[in-house]
Amino acid sequence: MKELLQKIENGYELNIEDGVKLYDLDIFTLGKLADKIRKQLHGNKTYFNINRHINPTNICKDICKFCAYSANRKNPHPYTMSHEEMMKTVDNSVKNGITEVHIVSAHNNEVGLDWYFDIFKKIKAKYPKLHIKSLTAAEVNFLAEEHNLSFDEVLDLMLENGVDSMPGGGAEIFDETVRNSICKGKVSSENWLKIHQKWHERGKKSNATMLFGHIESRENRIDHIIRIRDLQKITGGFNAFIPLVYQTENNYLNVKKTLTGQEILKTMAISRIILQNVPNLKAYWVTSTINLALVSQEFGANDLDGTIERETINSSAGANSYNGLKLSNFIEQIKSSGYKPVERDSLYNEILSYN
Ligand code: SF4
Repeated sequence: MKELLQKIENGYELNIEDGVKLYDLDIFTLGKLADKIRKQLHGNKTYFNINRHINPTNICKDICKFCAYSANRKNPHPYTMSHEEMMKTVDNSVKNGITEVHIVSAHNNEVGLDWYFDIFKKIKAKYPKLHIKSLTAAEVNFLAEEHNLSFDEVLDLMLENGVDSMPGGGAEIFDETVRNSICKGKVSSENWLKIHQKWHERGKKSNATMLFGHIESRENRIDHIIRIRDLQKITGGFNAFIPLVYQTENNYLNVKKTLTGQEILKTMAISRIILQNVPNLKAYWVTSTINLALVSQEFGANDLDGTIERETINSSAGANSYNGLKLSNFIEQIKSSGYKPVERDSLYNEILSYN
């Protein structure tokens, strides 16, 4: 362990074995190591943005075992929003001051390509400054397969229609054996990374997620983080890494044991320590609870996503997020946990600092 700590102290890159070994450290030591990196990168600031999540359809051609969102036997309520409904949602949210709309859908093969793309054009025509974060690499892969397009063609359509950045969803866990077991048929790890690389090569930014706490091992998590680190060395296009805690309800993955808070915090800290070339580590409170997200600030996290308003994907699986959080409450909670809330835009430019 002494050697490993020395390696961290001297700024050497850690490998899978090192990462797994870090879990043997006590939580306080890990927190201190991660906090040191957080402070070097961001001081006492905790970023958030004022955003709106829209999940326009839950009809999906894929069957990921961990998913509680798509319409199936356990969730027999299919829906697809019209563009008018989506625009109404955007209109209301703009009135509430959002700077970003975050649109993620299931893989719906009952609607055409236009349904996916025209909404971006409509939003941009009405709100040219509103940042559109949309289409995960899993959706890009689905649209390419469904409509006989190359990844390049789908990515170019995104640019033409006004998408500003890509969310990090669909990464789940890159290990091919685990992936095959939990989300067979969805975008492969290789293609997930390839799509993000191509997006970055267009001068655009994206995020990267990791779904943990299901059937993956600690080694699988470290392998996942290192694959992100390797791509980041080439492109520099990832803004944030977002570890997502697996939600246990309403799905077909028979994992009912939830992760301990300690395992979640250790994973946050280890992510911060290994992945130093991705600037921001986001504690997505929707899946970890707001209280644990606030504690995560001491374990490397410098971003608490946003007020979110309304989100259906994780709340279907048992996360307590449906109605979002009030801005004043959100800011107060960050302040009272000892950090400085800073509203940012989607590309991490600072908008307003709350002292
Ligand atoms: S996780 Fe996404 S792709 Fe998988 S079944 Fe659910 S909605 Fe479909």
